[in-house]
Amino acid sequence: MGTRPLLNRRLAGMGTTIFAEMSALATATGSINLGQGFPDTDGPEEVREAAVRALREGRGNQYPPGPGIPELRHAIAEHQQRFHGLTYDPDTEVLVTAGATEAIAAALLALLEPGDEVIALEPFYDSYAACIAMAGATRRPLTLRAPHFRPDLDELRALITPRTRLLLINTPHNPTGTVLAPGELAAIAALAVEHDLLVITDEVYEHLVFGATHHPLAALPGMRERTVTISSAGKTFSFTGWKVGWVTASPALVSAVRTAKQYLTYVSAGPFQYAVAEALRLPDDYFRTLRTDLLRKRDLLLDGLTAAGFRAFTPEGTYFITTDITPLGEKDGIDFCRSLPERCGVVAIPNAVFYDNTDAGRSLVRFTFCKKDEVLTEAVTRLQRL
Ligand code: PMP
Ligand code: GLN
Repeated sequence: MGTRPLLNRRLAGMGTTIFAEMSALATATGSINLGQGFPDTDGPEEVREAAVRALREGRGNQYPPGPGIPELRHAIAEHQQRFHGLTYDPDTEVLVTAGATEAIAAALLALLEPGDEVIALEPFYDSYAACIAMAGATRRPLTLRAPHFRPDLDELRALITPRTRLLLINTPHNPTGTVLAPGELAAIAALAVEHDLLVITDEVYEHLVFGATHHPLAALPGMRERTVTISSAGKTFSFTGWKVGWVTASPALVSAVRTAKQYLTYVSAGPFQYAVAEALRLPDDYFRTLRTDLLRKRDLLLDGLTAAGFRAFTPEGTYFITTDITPLGEKDGIDFCRSLPERCGVVAIPNAVFYDNTDAGRSLVRFTFCKKDEVLTEAVTRLQRL
């Protein structure tokens, strides 16, 4: 095979995702896994039953249509209207994907040329860096800094060059829990319009907000025609294993993203698409209860982490809490997370892996609170031994 590395240069150094590494560590050590974000309680029974019914009745057991089944595309469009007042044509402006992950990959692969620059909020979700690299483009981080993790809009303006093609936004933001405020969104939108940039906005945590309100970027003036909005059933309905995600955008953007998407998976999750169509039509009460349950869990973990000596930053959205481990006499989040299972039987995620400017994230560690109350309580008891 010669001396040439097998893994190409675009993916060099990307190794195993931190989520896989840390979940494997949790299993191997029997630790409580507050690392990878997946709930330990499945979503609504009636949604699960809808999937079973579809399987039994032979709906979706063969290749569904490329853009997604019409029932789901209609339900996605209705959901955008009901919660955000956004109107999308289910036939030309909606695309079903294999989770938000495939939507992100397809959008970046479809819209970028090698050499293009992408400005993304840092820390960034791990697949952003990998997909920007696979597209041959370059990422330019706009760093969200502790303790407030707000974007510096002057810094954003300064990052824009003639090579900038795209802004990659994530709100509510994983891992910091920042929910972009109307003024921040307006400034981002104004820059996108001024410089004629495309925007991809990852809004998978759109329903997981506490106190703050989530505003979709596509609703701002001048944004609808330049914005690819991405969401997913994983977070909203607690079925992360189903991998049903979607894109809403103009017909031209959907068509571009679909071109890449059809060569990634072509289609996926046939019977689950029928179930997610029903899930998106659940009454408002479902979405309210999801939020109030998570808010209670957030506060439980926030208090526990603070009592254990962490500096915990209150998230306005997502199901993650970012902490600073400096008050515990620790400096390096990666070392800390690797030793935590052995020290006290808990797994967390080091935020440093989501940064290019690793200094800004070195001492930050993320914990998820999408777990049963008793699991969170036990985790906190263990962390207090530190
Ligand atoms: N974007 C963000 C910000 C995420 O946290 C995640 C993890 N769920 C994803 C995308 C991927 O979503 P999915 O599981 O639907 O592919
Ligand atoms: N989005 C999840 C998280 O941030 C992880 C998903 C994954 O493992 N790819 O924890």
